[in-house]
Amino acid sequence: MNNLQTEALAPLAINGGEPTILTPFKRYNSLGREEQVAVQEVMESGVLSQFLGCWHDDFYGGKKVRQFEQQCAEFFKVKHAITVNSWTSGLIAAVGALDIEPGDEIIVSPWTMCASATAILHWNAIPVFADIDSRTFNLDPASVRANITEKTKAIMAIDIFGLSADMTALRAIANEFGLKLISDTAQAPGAMYGDQFAGTLADIGGYSLNYHKHIHTGEGGVIVTNDDALAERLRLIRNHAEAVIPGMGERPLNNMLGYNFRLGELECAIGIEQLKKLPRLVQSRQHLAERLIAGLSGLKGLGLPYTPDGCTHVYYIFPMVLDIAQLGCSRADIAQALKAEGVDVGPQYQNLHLLPMYQQKIAYGKQGFPWSAEFSRQTVTYAKGICPVAEGLNDASYMGFGMCVYDLSNDDIDLIVAAFRKVWAHLVSE
Ligand SMILES: *Cc1c(COP(=O)(O)O)cnc(C)c1O
Repeated sequence: MNNLQTEALAPLAINGGEPTILTPFKRYNSLGREEQVAVQEVMESGVLSQFLGCWHDDFYGGKKVRQFEQQCAEFFKVKHAITVNSWTSGLIAAVGALDIEPGDEIIVSPWTMCASATAILHWNAIPVFADIDSRTFNLDPASVRANITEKTKAIMAIDIFGLSADMTALRAIANEFGLKLISDTAQAPGAMYGDQFAGTLADIGGYSLNYHKHIHTGEGGVIVTNDDALAERLRLIRNHAEAVIPGMGERPLNNMLGYNFRLGELECAIGIEQLKKLPRLVQSRQHLAERLIAGLSGLKGLGLPYTPDGCTHVYYIFPMVLDIAQLGCSRADIAQALKAEGVDVGPQYQNLHLLPMYQQKIAYGKQGFPWSAEFSRQTVTYAKGICPVAEGLNDASYMGFGMCVYDLSNDDIDLIVAAFRKVWAHLVSE
C-alpha cells in the first residue's frame, strides 16, 4: 500500500479520525507597506475627501480620486472609470443612468449577490430572472431571450465566481431587441473575455472593492464605461445630481436623483496600490486553482470549474458540481465530511427569486409596489420552477470553495486535495 492509500483509509474526522488539515489556513490579505505609505501621505495632506456636491471643479473629487480613476481607465482600457463608495452604489447608479421608466424590466441572473437585483428595484424597475448555464453559472442566453417582453429595457449579466458571462451572445440579443447591457463584474476583476477585460464589454460595467474581493479598499467600487453620456449621468448620480444640473446647462432630468456615492481620498490612495497588485494576485489565484483542478480531477461524480475557450477565470470562488446519482450520497454528507477535515465548502448563494421579498412582492411599502403599480406588467412571476438549472444547482448539486477567503500555498492546496480524496474514498462507492 502506498502513502496516499494509507492516508485515504485513515478514519474520517467526522467519525473521530484525525482531520487532514490541522492548522487553519492563513487569511487572505492583499495589504502591505505600500498601502500604509499611501495612506500616510493622504493623512498628512489633511484632505480626506475633496468632493463638492455642486457644479464646480471639485464635483469630480480630489487628487487621489482622479488619479485612481485614471489608472483604472488605463488598466481596464476604457474611456471612463468612476469610483463609488461600494459596488452596490455602482449598480444603483448604473441602472439609474440608463433611460428606463418605472415598470420597465431588466433581465438578471438569480445566481448572484442580492444587490444586483435590488439595484433594479431601486428605480422601480422590475427584475426578471432568467436561468443560468449549468457549466458557467452565468446567464443562459436562450433563457434571456425567452424572458424578453415589450417592457424589457436591459440585461444585467453577472460575471459570477470570476468568469465572464457570454458577452457575444448577450450583445447580439441586446442589439436585436434594442436593450442596454450592464455587467456586474464584482467577482471577476482581471478576467479576460477574448482580449478585453470582463466588465468592459457592456454599456456599463464595474467592480467591487469590498474587503472580500480580489483587491479592496475596505468598501468601494469602480464603474467603467466607454460612453460619454452615460459617464456623465453616472457621475451625477454619484454626487447629488439634482443640485449640480442647474449649473451645467440643459440636461435630461429623468432619474437624476443624486446620492452621496463618493469614495474618499484614503480609499483611492489604497486603490492605486491595490490595482498595481491585481495582475499578480490574479495569477497566483489562477495557479492555485489549476493545481486544485489537477489534484481533484478523476474523482467520481465531481464536476470541476469550466472555462470556455478565449476566457480566463479569476476564481473568486472555486465552483464544483456534484453528480448526485453517481456519488451515492448527498451534498450535505460530502460537505460535512470535508468540513470536519478542515475544508469549508458550501453553496454561496440562495436563488434570489426565492427570497421572501420576491416571493411576497413586498419592497416599497406593504402594497406590492412597484409590482402592483399600473405601470408594471402584472404577470411577472418568481414561482419556484422559473429557473430550473439555478434551482437544481442551489438545492442539490452545486458546491463552492471560497478560495478568496484564504492566502493559500501550494502545500495548502495539496492538503485540500488530500481531504477530498479521503472523503471520496470513504463516502463514494467505486
Ligand atoms: C460583492 C458583490 C456585489 C456588491 O459589491 P459591494 O462593493 O459589496 O457593494 C455585487 N454583486 C456581486 C456579484 C458581488 O459579488
